[in-house]
Amino acid sequence: MAKANSIYWNPILETLPREKLRALQFKKFRRILEWAYNNSPFYKRFYRHHGLEPGDIKTFDDIKKIPKTDKGMLREVQKRPPFPYGDMLAVPLKDVTIFRQTSGTTGTPVYQADTWQDWEWWAECWSYILYAQGYRDTDRVFLPFGYNIFVAFWAGHYAAEKVGCEVVPGGVLDTEARILKMQELKCTAFMATPTYVLGMADTAKKMGIDPKTIGIKRITCAGEPGASIPATKKRIEETWGAKVYDHIGATEIGAWSYMCTFQSRGLHVNEAFFLVEIEDIDTGEIIEKPGKNGKMVITAFDRIGKPCIRFDSKDVIRWADYKCECGRTFRIIDGGVIGRVDDITKVKGVLLAPTAIEEVIRSFKELGDEYEVIVTKKGDIDDILLKIEIRPGFEQNKDDILARLKDQLRVKTNLGYKMEIHPFGSLPRYEVKAKRFKDLRNH
Ligand SMILES: [Zn+2]
Repeated sequence: MAKANSIYWNPILETLPREKLRALQFKKFRRILEWAYNNSPFYKRFYRHHGLEPGDIKTFDDIKKIPKTDKGMLREVQKRPPFPYGDMLAVPLKDVTIFRQTSGTTGTPVYQADTWQDWEWWAECWSYILYAQGYRDTDRVFLPFGYNIFVAFWAGHYAAEKVGCEVVPGGVLDTEARILKMQELKCTAFMATPTYVLGMADTAKKMGIDPKTIGIKRITCAGEPGASIPATKKRIEETWGAKVYDHIGATEIGAWSYMCTFQSRGLHVNEAFFLVEIEDIDTGEIIEKPGKNGKMVITAFDRIGKPCIRFDSKDVIRWADYKCECGRTFRIIDGGVIGRVDDITKVKGVLLAPTAIEEVIRSFKELGDEYEVIVTKKGDIDDILLKIEIRPGFEQNKDDILARLKDQLRVKTNLGYKMEIHPFGSLPRYEVKAKRFKDLRNH
């Protein structure tokens, strides 16, 4: 590989001029559309029902005519044969080489079929991420996650090998054993959810090991928005003495975005492999201008087993109004995924994104990493209870901390909170996806 001096995994695609990138995207969109129409019974039925066929898409602008898919449809369609994926499948069942499923945090899990070609594509997409985050063949990379039916960091593992790193799979080890192994082997990088990265640091400290002394240089976070929340990112970087980068992907979509070493406030969309459109939540218009929040509609151009075309992900994102100094022409989403259309909820008539609460809490060095937000309804009035932990040594400043926290939360979210202090280490810890926001109102 002639990549030694390049900062790009693919110097041509990552710096392609915008108009050429658009042309490539259009060509690839048409290709996957035709593939799905011709090979997936679901897609043929779906597009025919809407009176469309691939030939109707003649310009880039026509893409928005293609009806969107969503998770509900994925669940519905998997009740049909072939078992267990349903007829969205666009390859013979015998070509499927790996089963994955979504975590099911928002309902019935979606079963995901990938072919070997799809799996190579996953690893290629992840190679862009890791290379942009400084992973090289001199890195020894630790993977502290349960290798199982969830895609999690599986593709990160394969991509790290593809990039040339040495990979240490830390599958069934417990957190203490993982820390000792990372220390023993002098690992230089690892990948985990931000919650688990912070949890590992706590465990290391309890074992008498300062995480900074392990020698980790870079950490790739995914699965939760933490590494795009400046206060959380800063906390992780200071705790581990390492650079922290975010990546966003999804089982049913693929690995579509990444932060690079230039550390701008956003994530590049891998536009050579994905088309990201942002749709105005109220009007349904496609938003091209930076700065306006909308929901993401995404297409994976090269996923053939179970194609993902104009998938309504319910993620709220916005285009950045700045460019990244790295020189990549891939557009940037500002601040990562801001929330989910379903999570951004009205409390006391005010729109509340749970990430805003996290930003405030993680900016207090006196507070523990864990917290919980519980919204309830008493009569007609919404009530927000915030459970926090105060770190040992700061308990005597409790009143001052609570007063400042209330102030800052009011400034950031326009809402008042009831506070509950819990003993340090007593709130639930999560290894996979944290569930810190609980809406107990009956909508
Ligand atoms: Zn960049």
